[in-house]
Amino acid sequence: MSKHQWYKDLQRKIKHGVLRIDEPLCKYTMTKLGGSADILVIPTTIDETEATVRYAYEHDIPLLLLGNGSNMVVRDGGVRGIVLHLSKLNQIKIEGTSVHAEGGANIFDVSRLSGAKSLTGFEFACGIPGSVGGAMAMNAGAYGGEIKDIIVQVTVLTKEGKRIVLSKDELELGYRQSIITKKGYYVLSADFNLQIGSQEEINAKMADLTYQRESKQPLEFPSAGSVFKRPPGYYAGKLIQDSGLQGKGFGGAEVSVKHAGFIVNKNNATATDYIQTIEMVKSEVKKNFGVDLELEVKIVGEEKETND
Ligand code: FAD
Repeated sequence: MSKHQWYKDLQRKIKHGVLRIDEPLCKYTMTKLGGSADILVIPTTIDETEATVRYAYEHDIPLLLLGNGSNMVVRDGGVRGIVLHLSKLNQIKIEGTSVHAEGGANIFDVSRLSGAKSLTGFEFACGIPGSVGGAMAMNAGAYGGEIKDIIVQVTVLTKEGKRIVLSKDELELGYRQSIITKKGYYVLSADFNLQIGSQEEINAKMADLTYQRESKQPLEFPSAGSVFKRPPGYYAGKLIQDSGLQGKGFGGAEVSVKHAGFIVNKNNATATDYIQTIEMVKSEVKKNFGVDLELEVKIVGEEKETND
């Protein structure tokens, strides 16, 4: 079946959401680079989401869940199959100390809304630019806090389109990993439990974390955040800095001069530039310190076909 047939079939299922063919994914990722999706679906309801997942499963079409694209690098040849983007499933409900958020809500909105209700525990995420689904998949964390500390349960769709609820223990949350990516589940919503705190202390903590982020991270350029996981016993940024790699890169991509753990799209980089810069960093750090850096970012999609 061709992508044009997928598009036609999905037109009957996606009545209110967005459906596009050959849609450039640089519009949806924070590195602002990479190729197009054969099909992009932005559902407005859980039913549309389920229908898309079932359709992909029944027709054996690859399906990629794209959150806010803040930890994802899409290769220049783009993504074959269907890309599902949940940005319109973004409801957040707070009752007492319980917070319910849909998978496409921004995690920093959930953090800030909770803080504004004098709930403490979510401050660590006030500057993480991911979606709730992406934060669950990656067990996002910062400044000593992580999703694992506050999650109660998550509702996901399996690859077959069956809805199931996973408790905290079933999520197998570890350092930037979870059962969600291992099993290819799609996060529909998450429930968190927070504590009642002092409004003044919550505001002060968020202001401090925002200051730390803005002063240390190259937020003025597109990036995917920290490219590498923290190797046991080391800091990736320090190893890269001590290798003298800041300011170096390929094409428009460069190891940030502000934070060596970030690779920024400084000047119309292609995904090839970005990935070559990643490879260069890995090989230099291995050569200098004998440490194998493991990727935190997810690289997806296909190489661009060339004519030679
Ligand atoms: P994406 O990048 O879109 O996807 C990442 C992975 O999650 C993919 O495998 C994708 O398939 C999967 N995924 C996304 N949504 C879903 C869903 N609904 N269901 C199932 N799987 C899904 N991360 C931190 O942990 N701490 C930080 O302090 C931090 N700071 C950052 C600062 C900057 C400037 C940037 C650009 C990134 C930073 N990140 C940080 C990385 C990133 O924000 C997190 O990893 C975030 O959790 C990724 O969420 P996302 O929605 O953007 O996911």
